[in-house]
Amino acid sequence: MKIKKYLPPIAMWLIFESIAVILWLTLENLFYLFNFSYIGMAIAAGLILYIHKKKYARNAVQFAVGLYMLGYLGFLCHENMQIEGFWYYLFLGVFEAATIHYVVAKIFGPLVFGRGWCGYACWTAMILDLLPFKTPAAPRKRWGYVRYFVFAASLIFVGLLFILQIPDKDNIIWWSFIIGNIMYYVVGIVMAYQCKDNRAFCKYVCPVTVFLKPMSYLSLFRIKVDEEKCISCGKCEKVCPMDVEVPSNSRKKANATECILCMKCVEECPKSALKL
Ligand code: SF4
Ligand code: SF4
Ligand code: SF4
Repeated sequence: MKIKKYLPPIAMWLIFESIAVILWLTLENLFYLFNFSYIGMAIAAGLILYIHKKKYARNAVQFAVGLYMLGYLGFLCHENMQIEGFWYYLFLGVFEAATIHYVVAKIFGPLVFGRGWCGYACWTAMILDLLPFKTPAAPRKRWGYVRYFVFAASLIFVGLLFILQIPDKDNIIWWSFIIGNIMYYVVGIVMAYQCKDNRAFCKYVCPVTVFLKPMSYLSLFRIKVDEEKCISCGKCEKVCPMDVEVPSNSRKKANATECILCMKCVEECPKSALKL
């Protein structure tokens, strides 16, 4: 039936619209209705473009959501949606902006849509994905521990602002957003060229993965293989930007929590053995 193929965009739109209405009514703030409705519609529109085999469907969603969050929420509304902003609001005991963003996109959302944030919405990856190294040129390096240092550094930085009772914390957090983003882009681009891998920053440095990885282990949406159809040709693993052991249904397979649901493997499989 025709409508069946539109179930994923409809489901994603309904999930985000429910979040929008719940937050709007519970926090009595119309902004959340606009915010999550926009994000839900952008993701649903991108999935519809993907269904219609538009080549740049995923990039379109990345820019629609990423630019909105970086440009509108970040630069115009002065909200730090980086991890420092999350710690800041958390220590203030405020459930808004970055805390809501983290709860929805990076802490509990991944239980449903895994690392969909990384594939379709992150404003760092929206630029990194334009670089020429879409498929990693070399085996994965054992540098994943770096992310824990960056994670700890962000926590210590914001913690010290409170412990030392530094004045004008709002302004410092705003500047940390600007400087943090510049650093992410510079380090991300340099690493991509050094490792010949667009997603090197995501694999080794990004501190957000400390939240994303354990939650996405349990993700409802994930790539599954029909073992009867699979001929073990290895094409899916060759195109995977995140080095996932694609043709296995085990949640414990290599780099399972790295999958960003980009669907490259599904497109590449000659036997149509993979699906979401
Ligand atoms: S790993 Fe970090 S930088 Fe990469 S897409 Fe995810 S949140 Fe963005
Ligand atoms: S290619 Fe497949 S397994 Fe690899 S990140 Fe994309 S969707 Fe996940
Ligand atoms: S591309 Fe398809 S057939 Fe080939 S190994 Fe992957 S799942 Fe199996």
